[in-house]
Amino acid sequence: MNKKKSISSDIIVMGNGITSQFFSLVLSKTLGDRIKISQIDKEIKSQDYVRALSISLSTVNMCKALDIWSLIEPYCYPVKKIIVTHKGKQESKSGILEFNNHIDQNIASYIINESDLRKILSQQIEKYKTIELFETEINSLDINNESALISSNQYDFSSKLIVAGDGRRSIVKKILGIKSISWDYDQTALSCLITHSKKNDNIAIENFLNTGPIAILPFGDYQSSLVWSGTKNFMNNLNQLDRNKLLEEVQMQTRDYIGKISKIENIGFFDLNFSIIRRLIDTRVAFIGDAAHSVHPLAGQGTNIGLRDVAYLSENIIDSIKYGLDFSNKNVLQVYERKRMPDIVTSAMTFDAINRLYSNNIQAIEPLKDFAINFVSKIPKLKKSFVEEGAGTKRTMSKLIQGIPIS
Ligand SMILES: Cc1cc2nc3c(=O)[nH]c(=O)nc-3n(C[C@H](O)[C@H](O)[C@H](O)COP(=O)(O)OP(=O)(O)OC[C@H]3O[C@@H](n4cnc5c(N)ncnc54)[C@H](O)[C@@H]3O)c2cc1C
Repeated sequence: MNKKKSISSDIIVMGNGITSQFFSLVLSKTLGDRIKISQIDKEIKSQDYVRALSISLSTVNMCKALDIWSLIEPYCYPVKKIIVTHKGKQESKSGILEFNNHIDQNIASYIINESDLRKILSQQIEKYKTIELFETEINSLDINNESALISSNQYDFSSKLIVAGDGRRSIVKKILGIKSISWDYDQTALSCLITHSKKNDNIAIENFLNTGPIAILPFGDYQSSLVWSGTKNFMNNLNQLDRNKLLEEVQMQTRDYIGKISKIENIGFFDLNFSIIRRLIDTRVAFIGDAAHSVHPLAGQGTNIGLRDVAYLSENIIDSIKYGLDFSNKNVLQVYERKRMPDIVTSAMTFDAINRLYSNNIQAIEPLKDFAINFVSKIPKLKKSFVEEGAGTKRTMSKLIQGIPIS
């Protein structure tokens, strides 16, 4: 029988998704040899196309602070304008909202292929010998006064702290029995890449259909990434269609915004749910990203919110190390929880409310749908604050989110 290998580090990072990768990178870039990280994923994924991600200014600033924005920017498509509308309103002047997607001189969001972002992050992480990546499935977790212990069939890991970034079905959350406030949206999102005849002019379109929102996001002049949410039933039917029929369906929904669609590729279907963890921390454990919250993709904010978790948690840990304190101490973790929860709850509930308002066929609230859009449209200050909300920079005072390197 093979003997299990014992691995000791300062922090165990569960998951190798984007939030976990950013977390390990921030710590290693700032602390160098002073921090040793064991990063565990049950399945190290290939770097193939996953889907396009909208990254907001808060994420861009973080990349700038980490000095990796120059590597990422060439793969990004800027969103210069956002048009929000709802069913059947594109010909009418009412029920259309246009945002100039800038904050001061800065573009407030960009679209990037998730796998390009992951490739760059992986290359950065590889530079650090202090981050060791393990592909293994864990089967137990034990927390005591001295340390946090995790076991798999091959390894026994020990550390001071576990940072759980292991996604919405987090095993850490499950083993510790930490509950979430959650509900199923009974919605599935179709994500795909389309090639079309009209230039998109770097404009993102969000059309709130009665069946669910459809977002068309610029991905080069004649390509757009599409995220279309609808009932599970409806999307299941779409999933059964052959490519040409699916293209026809998508063409019908995108109307004339982007002209004739000639190609549809990278098709993926994702079930949607709402979830907020009841507590972001436990003894020697902190949750980040989708392990802590899963939000509706209508605003393209899931990753961005997760990276704001990363910013606060890493800054707290770095500060405590600087001052010679124990970074796994409950007080340090409580500060993280206190600072993050308001943003998480407000963001998740806002997207939930928008989805509820628009994704239905209730005739009585049709005027309200128009009213909401027209109301925002008439008040420039309100429009500006919507762009700021999307950019995420006003939501936290974290240095990284403001683009300031931490040392
Ligand atoms: C259709 C759709 C469109 C979206 N568009 C956007 C967008 O435009 N912008 C945006 O900001 N967000 C968007 N999101 C949200 C975004 O994709 C997620 O918020 C983000 O991927 C979460 O990253 P994460 O690293 O926290 O979790 P994940 O990406 O889920 O990573 C978790 C990792 O943990 C690993 N793991 C799981 N279980 C275990 C285990 N037992 N042991 C070890 N490892 C484990 C997994 O293998 C995985 O690598 C979208 C989501 C959907 C569904």
